[in-house]
Amino acid sequence: MAETMKAAVWYDKKDIRVEDVAVPAPPKADEVQIEVDFCGICGSDLHEYLAGPIFIPTEPHPLTGHSGKTILGHEFSGTVVAVGDAVKNVRVGDLVAPDACQHCGTCITCREGRYNVCESLAFTGLMAEGAFAKYVNVPANVVFVLPEGVSQEAAALIEPIATGFKAVRQAGPILGESIVVLGAGTIGLGTLQCAKAAGAGLCIVVEMSAARKKLAKECGADVILDPTECDIVAEVKKLTGGSGADVSFECIGNVKTGPLAIDVIRNNGRAIIVGIFEGPSEFNFFSLSATDKRVIGTLAYTLDDFKGVSALLANGAITAEPLITGKIALSDIVSKGFEELVNNKDAHIKILVDPNL
Ligand SMILES: [Zn+2]
Ligand SMILES: [Zn+2]
Repeated sequence: MAETMKAAVWYDKKDIRVEDVAVPAPPKADEVQIEVDFCGICGSDLHEYLAGPIFIPTEPHPLTGHSGKTILGHEFSGTVVAVGDAVKNVRVGDLVAPDACQHCGTCITCREGRYNVCESLAFTGLMAEGAFAKYVNVPANVVFVLPEGVSQEAAALIEPIATGFKAVRQAGPILGESIVVLGAGTIGLGTLQCAKAAGAGLCIVVEMSAARKKLAKECGADVILDPTECDIVAEVKKLTGGSGADVSFECIGNVKTGPLAIDVIRNNGRAIIVGIFEGPSEFNFFSLSATDKRVIGTLAYTLDDFKGVSALLANGAITAEPLITGKIALSDIVSKGFEELVNNKDAHIKILVDPNL
């Protein structure tokens, strides 16, 4: 009989089951098998729980052939336990944090090195089996080997923080510049810390939740603005000599905060759009053609960003610990994970799942 393991399997919205599934087959030639140490619950996992399928394919995915019933989980750290015959970059026993962007390697953006926007992008744990399990197989070319000085807990945060790190890179040099970060969730706080590490000057965070405001302070915010208490655009202008901020980072994905990210920057400033939006916003393009403002989109990251984030974690320029607000067993993932994030939203940033508990 095939060996089994516990895994959190998405069947449908509000139907995630922790059950026994077969341990993945030995890795294919270009794959590795990883024993999972920690895997964080992402906002996208929560969306699949509440309203899925959103990213989970209903037809076989062009890259992975995967659809429907899925083991979730893509923000993880682990130890390599087996490698395929053709794998050269990773060895059994390596401590790793895999990047979730499985990609084709041949489309135009893959050839440009921007495989995060591969035309056949397959996210681990959504479009391929994920890491809310004891073992997971992933392609070796997305596996990052951890440097010394990064704990396995912190390593599970590299994936979401890399999204912020890449957003900061998209902004170009920000040394001494004023920034506005909209939203102090995992991505916002990661972005804030990376922007500080890149030398940002005045750091303004826009947030409503009391717990998140406190964390934003801990992560280096100079000023926190609450849209229920003030006019954000007027306040940002006041704080920036009347012009607006040099750079904004939209890390919420709300119908109002998309346009707001453009309104808070000065003429010739940059707005970096990181959030996942569920619907369109009303927006007058004249606020671009009249101002030289630049709006830049960003999705995910590549392994270069994993390398950068882990270097900053190792030297202490950024820290993952304040973002970890819970550590739970895999068997409790629905009650103490997904339901907790729904019912106690403000108290949490990142809940880590430990499949070995
Ligand atoms: Zn995620
Ligand atoms: Zn591609």
